[in-house]
Amino acid sequence: MQRAPLITRRSLLGAAAAGAGAIVASCAGVSGGSRPDSGTPRRVVVVGAGLAGLTAAVDLRAAGWDVTVLEARDRVGGRVLTLHEPFSGDQYAEAGGESIDDNHTAIQALARHYRLALAHRPADKLARAAVFAKGERSSLGALLEQNGSATTIGYLGFDQALIDVAGGLDPEHPERAAHAAELDSRSLEDFLGDQHLTDAAAFLVRTDYRGNFNAELSGVSLLFAAQQAVVDENLSEAGVETMRIAGGNQRLPEAMAKALGQRVVLGAPVTRISQQSWGVRLTAGSRSYDAAHVVLAVPPPPLRRITFDPALPAAVADMVDHLRLGSALKVSRQYTRRFWIPEGLSGFTVTDLPFAVGWEATDSQPVTASGPGILTQFVTGDAAAVGAKLADRKRITSFGAQLDRVYPEGVASATSRRSTMAWADEPFTGGGYAVFAPGQFAPFWPVLRAPHGRMWFAGEHTETLAGYMESAVRSGQRVAGSIGRPPPT
Ligand SMILES: Cc1cc2nc3c(=O)[nH]c(=O)nc-3n(C[C@H](O)[C@H](O)[C@H](O)COP(=O)(O)OP(=O)(O)OC[C@H]3O[C@@H](n4cnc5c(N)ncnc54)[C@H](O)[C@@H]3O)c2cc1C
Repeated sequence: MQRAPLITRRSLLGAAAAGAGAIVASCAGVSGGSRPDSGTPRRVVVVGAGLAGLTAAVDLRAAGWDVTVLEARDRVGGRVLTLHEPFSGDQYAEAGGESIDDNHTAIQALARHYRLALAHRPADKLARAAVFAKGERSSLGALLEQNGSATTIGYLGFDQALIDVAGGLDPEHPERAAHAAELDSRSLEDFLGDQHLTDAAAFLVRTDYRGNFNAELSGVSLLFAAQQAVVDENLSEAGVETMRIAGGNQRLPEAMAKALGQRVVLGAPVTRISQQSWGVRLTAGSRSYDAAHVVLAVPPPPLRRITFDPALPAAVADMVDHLRLGSALKVSRQYTRRFWIPEGLSGFTVTDLPFAVGWEATDSQPVTASGPGILTQFVTGDAAAVGAKLADRKRITSFGAQLDRVYPEGVASATSRRSTMAWADEPFTGGGYAVFAPGQFAPFWPVLRAPHGRMWFAGEHTETLAGYMESAVRSGQRVAGSIGRPPPT
């Protein structure tokens, strides 16, 4: 994440089935008996049809493997989900993965490959953000000017302080840094306390990083945060959260699944994985699938419901059992007119209310200044954990009332077309994106990056650049590259 000042998804500045008939229950790789079929040595089964699993599948197929993708849900995309309902006028909102940064080159290349256009968001969306704090609305500039330059310097200097504390760690092997255990034992909140920032700067840092990691800073390993700061620094200077896929991000996984055709099996939750001398056998429903390798492109919470035979080694089981996804939810509401535009605002919102951050979902869609638009609230950390427990209607009402406090002038144009998605409630996801708590990063990282017998982990949680759609794509490419080519026939 290119961490300029302020949040969006992550930085303050800073299914439909995939095509008619494309995805049907497939018999590829099915094995009923105890002996593997003759195609097994050249077959890989990918578990999970999110961006990581689909990318791995596409690349493995290109390398010559016979690929089967088993997906638990009845749609592809995982945490990429575009909501067209209940919105009118062809407008839509992203329930999960939303913005693409300029330096997210792997996902941009994939979009180009599938002939999907990228639609740009306004470059000045943060400059025109509203800040609502202590019951008053002002601008980001006004907040940064509090206490002279101390707030700006403290806020903008926080990233550099993280890079300094990282002490040149190798993001590929953060666990090998001389001070890895010490950093891992501390939280990002501990580190923030050391910086003695102004209240306004600390507010901005907390808001920024809470969105970044989907968790309160006390629940984030300092080693993980330092690694992410180094990864950011190594990325080329570029705009953050600059674009989305035109027509909805979900078009990308759908296009990939369409290209894979009957190799993608929907409604096939894997419940058992057994490693054999000849390969791996997976059970999904009443079927079993044999393969030379399995790619587990599934976040840790749903992995806990899979039985592994033999049991996973203790270090791997520990990671699966304890690595969690932070809490993230969204609430989106359509307005009959974009009331914020005539006021010189972008719809981007930073608050000290529980929802903390919001933006315009439609700012990369064909909109008019006086026409309808959608505002999305992005709620993370403790507020999202509490909000996830509410029924959808109640959640929509509760967070909607907070937005009305920020924009009372918008109440008259608010419609009843609203949606919400709490990812912690989703049994095949379990949260927003992975967050390594203090003490977890050094032991879990090498486990996530290594193959275990014939099993490979993929997904955003396994990448040096963590937590993005780009991360998922990169992880699929990395694992497919490591598996290489099938044996000759
Ligand atoms: C609210 C929110 C906002 C976000 N905002 C952004 C953003 O602005 N920009 C950005 O780049 N990223 C964003 N992200 C992150 C991004 O969406 C994810 O990093 C990425 O989509 C993860 O992809 P994945 O393939 O690793 O995992 P997933 O998409 O979770 O895919 C895993 C798949 O495995 C399936 N599965 C689970 N269990 C089983 C099983 N037993 N058998 C078979 N299949 C199974 C699931 O159904 C799912 O389809 C956001 C995420 C959230 C939740």
